Amino acid sequence: MTYHFAVIGAGPAGIAAVGKLIDHGVDPQTIAWIDPEFKVGDFGTKWRHVSSNTRVKLFHRFYAACKAFQFDDAPAHFAIHKTHPDETCLLSLAAEPLQWITDKLKQSVHVLHDKAIHLELSNRLWNIKLEKQSLQTKNIILATGAEPKSLSFADTSEIPLSVALDPEKLSALCHADDAVAVFGSSHSAIIIIQTLLEKCHVKKVVNFYLEPLRYAVYFDDWILFDDTGLKGKTAEWARNNIDGVLPEKLQRVISSPENIKNILPTCSHAIYATGFQSRHISVAGLHKLEYNNKNGIIAPGLFGVGIAFPEARHDRYGTLEYRVGLWKFMEYLQNIMPVWLQYGV
Ligand SMILES: Cc1cc2nc3c(=O)[nH]c(=O)nc-3n(C[C@H](O)[C@H](O)[C@H](O)COP(=O)(O)OP(=O)(O)OC[C@H]3O[C@@H](n4cnc5c(N)ncnc54)[C@H](O)[C@@H]3O)c2cc1C
Repeated sequence: MTYHFAVIGAGPAGIAAVGKLIDHGVDPQTIAWIDPEFKVGDFGTKWRHVSSNTRVKLFHRFYAACKAFQFDDAPAHFAIHKTHPDETCLLSLAAEPLQWITDKLKQSVHVLHDKAIHLELSNRLWNIKLEKQSLQTKNIILATGAEPKSLSFADTSEIPLSVALDPEKLSALCHADDAVAVFGSSHSAIIIIQTLLEKCHVKKVVNFYLEPLRYAVYFDDWILFDDTGLKGKTAEWARNNIDGVLPEKLQRVISSPENIKNILPTCSHAIYATGFQSRHISVAGLHKLEYNNKNGIIAPGLFGVGIAFPEARHDRYGTLEYRVGLWKFMEYLQNIMPVWLQYGV
């Protein structure tokens, strides 16, 4: 069979893509949905223990945004329903309804528990080579997510970001006699510094940073630094402990070659919270996966959405931000799906 669309990835972006395709009248039986696990992507697995940087009401808006999700039929007893809409929450709470939606969508589309390894366009059809099989489709939506970047300084043992963002796992690794280097000044970096100081009670945390902290500020109809600023409980902690009186065991230094050379060797572990890079998938004839950051088009019948292919948008003062977050993926798909349906093969 030749599918109309294949959606690769079942994180929040893949879920939204499947929902929007069905809402736009694409027959679910002609949609192939591919993911090794169908556990709400990295959002539902690696980042479960992270406190959200968006408010609960935006997650509710996402659940309700596609008719195909049938969220009106969902049980009302998800833990997120007990959290105030203006609060933030653990991502595990936000992921629970997404797993319910995934299971619902899986009943109507064609599901493949597999990993895509190569894409090739020929004779106006895409061939997707999976680990266990292959399939043909007219169009592909890549929602394959991103991996944390690492600086990998050789002599210091690295703690992967997914471990560092799980307080139980981090506590099992870091003890009172450890000095730990944390690179970065983002949402993730601040959460990790707080956990190391208040839960792991390590001897010292050295925060290597490049830029001053940046905070999101809420106005009635827009948010300043919506995509890059600290929010919620993380922002509150940073204001009190980094802009305020630095905790005794926290040292902050510019991430200069000299500081790295002199101070990093005093640390037993290093954690790199220094951003993300798109997961790679090989495509015949393309040396890299470049996408149009206003409409997600990569090639004829090949599109991208989610953290790997975010929309670029200027805020009202002209600052360019890459829009990453569940509600942003949904809004973006709302705008571009009609374009993809026309542009598709
Ligand atoms: C620490 C952290 C906190 C965040 N907090 C928030 C928040 O509070 N609110 C918010 O809205 N957003 C948040 N985000 C941003 C964003 O929503 C998440 O990064 C989200 O996981 C991105 O969704 P995604 O679907 O693009 O990618 P992912 O969740 O990474 O999902 C990608 C999926 O694609 C699959 N896949 C990859 N390659 C292949 C392949 N070749 N074949 C088949 N399947 C493949 C993967 O296995 C995975 O299941 C946060 C991000 C991070 C890192």
